[in-house]
Amino acid sequence: MSQNHPYRSLKVPSDAPFELKPSPGKGWGVFATRSIGRGDMILREKPLFVIRKPHEEITEEDVYTAFKQLVPSEKQQFMCLRDNGSKLFTQMTHIHAENSFAITNGIKPQANDPPIYGLFLLHSRFNHSCIPNSKVPTTDGEIIASFATRDIVAGEEITFCYNTDFECRVRHDRHQKLRFACDCKACLTGIPFQQLSDMRRTLVRGLQYLIHGVDLDEQRQSSASPIIIDSRLKKAAEDFSIPLSNRLVYNLLVMFLLEDEGLLDDFMVKRLNPSNLRTMSLFRTENNARIARVAMAQETWLEKFCMASRLYGQRDAVDHDIAVAIRMRHRRL
Ligand SMILES: [Zn+2]
Repeated sequence: MSQNHPYRSLKVPSDAPFELKPSPGKGWGVFATRSIGRGDMILREKPLFVIRKPHEEITEEDVYTAFKQLVPSEKQQFMCLRDNGSKLFTQMTHIHAENSFAITNGIKPQANDPPIYGLFLLHSRFNHSCIPNSKVPTTDGEIIASFATRDIVAGEEITFCYNTDFECRVRHDRHQKLRFACDCKACLTGIPFQQLSDMRRTLVRGLQYLIHGVDLDEQRQSSASPIIIDSRLKKAAEDFSIPLSNRLVYNLLVMFLLEDEGLLDDFMVKRLNPSNLRTMSLFRTENNARIARVAMAQETWLEKFCMASRLYGQRDAVDHDIAVAIRMRHRRL
């Protein structure tokens, strides 16, 4: 059956370091044909077409209108997507839903801008993993690219994570969002890694709450918070009155937990580390500033965290000003 599968007709660039083939239990997948180094680009892809509309409002006619504008060879490629490996699609909106990505432009969208969904023939073939080995970072345009987040060996399946906040969600929560049961090692029940994974991700979520004063949905949790049990600590987070020294400790613990989970790729370090460096630079009490500098100069995230934890609970001369500044920023948002 797989010999005649329409995915065999999808055009993979001749220099691509991967091939498409059946992936046991997951339909089809993308597999490395040679070793790919951490940070290497795997695939750069232009969408076949884009539709500027909220996902739930996209109709058969929208997809058909976009399809009609394609040249014959592109139409043929689109039709290869009829069969997703387990069943034939009967509606174009289903083909679109299963093969499109929201394109998040780096340029901050205006409130009235419709979301943009691009149909990607090849990136849609990558399977999901909660501990992936590749990532599709945000771009400034409609072309997307995937990069290896760690070294990938020939024959290994290439995966990326379909959601952006899964580092803060436990297995059960992730599967509800995915609407399928992932079987990566963070999801395989009964193994120690999975139990630790749920612990780490719960901790990361709680630490993010303490740092930002809100949960993943930007909302405060109800008084019976399942994440921050200590009501005084929860209130301090929501008032943004967590001392700077504790913020540094929380930030560095998040880095270590993400690293331990296998999620701290170079893109994530680039996104998160400026906040650690900024926090370090804000201390006004000399002794705190010195310890923070020594902590950040340590080699590993665990060493940085252990050194910074000496600051835990220490007040700093800048604490009041920081709380006021964060409150003002939140009022403006
Ligand atoms: Zn998983």
